[in-house]
Amino acid sequence: MEIDILTLFPEFFTGPLSQSMLRRAQHLGRVRFRVLNLREFTTDRHQVTDDRPFGGGPGMVMKVEPLVAAIRGVRGEDPATWVILLSPAGELFTQKKAGELAQLTHLLLICGHYEGVDDRVRHFINEEISIGDYVLTGGEIPALVVLDAVTRLLSGVLGGEGAAVEESFQTGLLEYPHYTRPREFEGLEVPEILLSGDHARIARWRRREALRRTAHRRPELLAKAALSREDREFLATLTENTTEDR
Ligand code: SAM
Repeated sequence: MEIDILTLFPEFFTGPLSQSMLRRAQHLGRVRFRVLNLREFTTDRHQVTDDRPFGGGPGMVMKVEPLVAAIRGVRGEDPATWVILLSPAGELFTQKKAGELAQLTHLLLICGHYEGVDDRVRHFINEEISIGDYVLTGGEIPALVVLDAVTRLLSGVLGGEGAAVEESFQTGLLEYPHYTRPREFEGLEVPEILLSGDHARIARWRRREALRRTAHRRPELLAKAALSREDREFLATLTENTTEDR
């Protein structure tokens, strides 16, 4: 997969793209990142990318011409490029959306700044994505959120093949709790069943803990999750008073 990032702050990406899973994914040849500097798509001597808003008001607005020149440049190289504008007014980013984007071959992520972008840019993109109901200074962190969530879903990127399959949201539920050594820490014990070696019982316990955690923390997710009869019977045994261990 190819992921291009259009930004006024290319150096923002140097650290994150060269660490951990994102670094490994590139070395494995599963993804190619390219950071494009918006200033390089300007045509004036001062490489101006923003201007005052029509109608007045505070702040600056990113100009439409360099943004569209960049979009056309990337689409000129690859007409299949899917262009995403990061924006607090976009569709809320979810694990489901990450899965859909991971099926594509080429993304262009556009990072806004200042008050945002000239609204006419919307005619030249495929979609707008928000990473949550809060406002960040620029689209760089949202772009990293999106590309991280997408890249780790590309086949072969995560070590254990099942690692991404069981994670929170992937099954429609929050994930079950994890433990590692030591078996006891300041009086807190690892659940006995995880030490039993009985894989079928462990799988059943994990499913139930995922259901319990989801029911307590994010009950609205249960409405869309794929639940078996056994899952429903277990959920029916949970009372309002049942809480997770603390
Ligand atoms: N004036 C804009 C508003 O009220 O919606 C906020 C602009 S924000 C300071 C600058 C840029 O940061 C946006 O153009 C967008 O690219 C990015 N951004 C900020 N918060 C975001 C979020 N929650 N999701 C995605 N992008 C965001």
